[in-house]
Amino acid sequence: MLREKLKQKILSEPTKCIAYLKELVKFNRIYEGEVLAIIMAVIKNGPDQLTNRQWDVLLDKGLLPDLYVECDRCEDTIPWSEMYRAIFIARDYFCPFCRCIVYKKNERLLD
Ligand SMILES: [Zn+2]
Repeated sequence: MLREKLKQKILSEPTKCIAYLKELVKFNRIYEGEVLAIIMAVIKNGPDQLTNRQWDVLLDKGLLPDLYVECDRCEDTIPWSEMYRAIFIARDYFCPFCRCIVYKKNERLLD
């Protein structure tokens, strides 16, 4: 289940996750006050301090389904460091590996 997987991913890679959360805050991608307050608490104190209710808000209203995605092509996880790019910059929802393959294929079409 994606939700439980996401929670484990946050807990197992807190530093990388926090770097992504900082990107979301910095570029004004968090619109809801309650979600923003919880994200700021995670940035400050780490994710293991959250109550069950805060986890519910963070996962269900904060990150899922729009701010945390898995690769559209291989369904592998996208590294935290690539999440912002996949959702907001490239907007392809691809992991770096698949992006590389797809773009190479497209380049070949133009040869
Ligand atoms: Zn992929």
